[in-house]
Amino acid sequence: MIFGSVERLRETLVWVCERVPFYRERLAAAGVDPARVDPESLRRVPVLRKADLVQSQREQPPFGELLAVGREHFASLHTSPGPIFIPRIAEERGGTPALVEEIEAMGVRPGDIAHVTLNYHIMPGGLRIHRAFEESGCLVINGGVGNTEMQVKVARAWGATVYAGTPSFLRQIGVVAREMGLEPRRDLPYRLGFSTAEKLTPELRAELGEIFAIELFDHIGEAQIGPVAGECRAHQGMHLSKTDLLFEFLDPLSGEPAVPGGIGELVATHLGRRGLPLVRYAPGDAYRLLDGACPCGNAAPRVEFFGQVGAIRKIKGVLVHPIAVAELVGRFPGLGSCQLVVEHRKGESFERATLRVAVDDPALSEPERRAALATEVARAARGALLIGVDVELCTPADIPAAAAGPAFAEAIVERASGEGR
Ligand SMILES: [Zn+2]
Repeated sequence: MIFGSVERLRETLVWVCERVPFYRERLAAAGVDPARVDPESLRRVPVLRKADLVQSQREQPPFGELLAVGREHFASLHTSPGPIFIPRIAEERGGTPALVEEIEAMGVRPGDIAHVTLNYHIMPGGLRIHRAFEESGCLVINGGVGNTEMQVKVARAWGATVYAGTPSFLRQIGVVAREMGLEPRRDLPYRLGFSTAEKLTPELRAELGEIFAIELFDHIGEAQIGPVAGECRAHQGMHLSKTDLLFEFLDPLSGEPAVPGGIGELVATHLGRRGLPLVRYAPGDAYRLLDGACPCGNAAPRVEFFGQVGAIRKIKGVLVHPIAVAELVGRFPGLGSCQLVVEHRKGESFERATLRVAVDDPALSEPERRAALATEVARAARGALLIGVDVELCTPADIPAAAAGPAFAEAIVERASGEGR
């Protein structure tokens, strides 16, 4: 899937290629004319990874070779872990327009009082969201992180109606408020919450709704590229905004555009003028593309964060992505976490791969049903992963937690010959 304005992409790339030799050469080598680029030809431009950006900045400190303007034009400087230095020019609103759209979709009104508890230090997140709430007509409190007791006092004194920050810190505010003898529902009138920088699980959403009578909206963004997607009042996935970025979601294995219902790795290109423009930047994140129309009426595609794509391994000569494995297992009701074990036995020239899958549903304990299920999973694996695997059904405790997304650190492990389990 590709989403965003091709016209703005062309304008942006013409501007970028006039100013940044790195991109001018990169597009020329790919045979891409910035004034005529289309989604198809854009895919010939090599992807820029976070490691490339870090390396570029290390080799040519501090900003690397991607700058579009001289440093005298910078208005502010953000930094993200790496470190990656992100200069912002004065005319660049750095993701603010997309955030303003999201804030509006939440039902925030001018006059709402927004309490921002993201980090304002060094990183871009806090200021970015602060500016967006200001532009939305809110009175904004620069809470920042920590100092929970002070945050409770300030939020209460001002009657903050909107919370912005991590869901776990909101819970902490509830805990501390009660320790201070307050009742969150009565004393902290938050009605809407912008949840970011952490997974908002259904349990946490329900718990926070109980504590504060707050309606939470999930959001996902990334330090370099800015806001990616945010929830609407239908709460059925997060909508992309085409205001600041052109999105490509590509199949992690084939590189072809992913289709609705499938999983795609995000490759984003900044639209508009930026101090450090990013063209085809891939932070290493995969999203599930949701199928069908949203009841809210917004036609922009919806996504869910799926996991990081860094864990791809070559097995039997074929690239296997843990995301593809998890997706395949997810098709079978009653099956849970999984791990792929690759084995090299002495004297054998080929690798063996065993897919270990945890059975969550006690109804699947009957030996005959288990055997049939294992056969079905193996057949599906051959179709989805293009390699033959043995399937071993086990209990949830047998699969290490690190095998799960988003990191998939132990999703695919190798075992040498003779090693016991
Ligand atoms: Zn919607």
